[in-house]
Amino acid sequence: MENHIFTIDIHTHILPEVIPDFANKFGYGGFVSLDKKIHKPDGSCCAKMMIDGKFFREIEENCWSSKKRLEECKNFGVDVQVLSTIPVMFAYWAQANDGLEWSKFLNDHIAEICTNNPKYFVGLGTVPLQAPRLAIQELERCKKIGMRGVQIGSHVNDWNLNDEHLFDFFTACQDLEMSVFVHPWEMMGQEKMQKYWLPWLVGMPAETSLAICSMIFGGVFEKLPHLKVAFAHGGGSFPSTIGRIEHGYNCRPDLVAVDNPINPRNYLGKFWLDSLVHDEFTLKNLIELIGEEKIALGSDYPFPLGENIPGKLINKMRLSNEIKENLLHKSALDWLGLKKEYFL
Ligand SMILES: [Zn+2]
Repeated sequence: MENHIFTIDIHTHILPEVIPDFANKFGYGGFVSLDKKIHKPDGSCCAKMMIDGKFFREIEENCWSSKKRLEECKNFGVDVQVLSTIPVMFAYWAQANDGLEWSKFLNDHIAEICTNNPKYFVGLGTVPLQAPRLAIQELERCKKIGMRGVQIGSHVNDWNLNDEHLFDFFTACQDLEMSVFVHPWEMMGQEKMQKYWLPWLVGMPAETSLAICSMIFGGVFEKLPHLKVAFAHGGGSFPSTIGRIEHGYNCRPDLVAVDNPINPRNYLGKFWLDSLVHDEFTLKNLIELIGEEKIALGSDYPFPLGENIPGKLINKMRLSNEIKENLLHKSALDWLGLKKEYFL
């Protein structure tokens, strides 16, 4: 492809094609299962994600088939996908050892795909953060099986990401050079958001801001300056409310700066955001605010609220080639600790 810029998509989700009956095995529900596949007349294939017999979401073949994904990547001009599970699979509510077994199952699946296609896929694991000691154990195993980092939720049950229970885990991520991708999940206020898909439109951006603010004010970034964290959906509502957040820090330090005396604005440019904002003006502002070296293409492939042609917004914008290179792969490589040559 002429003028093609090497493209890495850091935000894509994948599932195993067959999921064992974990609810039956563990003796309680809540785990996702896949209803048997439906072959459509046009030759495509889909399946229903079910939780305790209740329909959650219909997914297409590209959600589990690496072959289908490679075909679509080729069509879209995506050279590498970073694979992570779907946030509904975090299962932080499960019993500790069950959460570990569940995580291992999902991680082995992603690791195998990456091992078989090392030039096209990079893996992020999932860990049972409800049991931080086991999460560290699985993080170490993820590293051994070739994963470059982990995807975690925007909170873990009653813990925000500044919670002291999670600090050793983040320390281990820094020490092992495992990158962290923070994805909103279990959205706040859902009970008041029954209509209009509001948990996804309002709750998710708020969750991501919750995660960023918790890590800033809790001093996680301050204490772990080499921890590499990327947040989904362009940082949710955080970037557009940074003025308010900083003003809050200035006018009520007694409430805001109790665990970290440093101005939240100082952390802009110290973590990564994906580019998934669906809006030129917003992406331009993000580049101004945190710098093109900290924004990496993320599409949320293969889901409809994502960018259905990954990189389309970046590619159509009037930006210098240098900025596009950062957004399309350099920021991602830096976050993952990889060199482009790794994929060539
Ligand atoms: Zn996503």
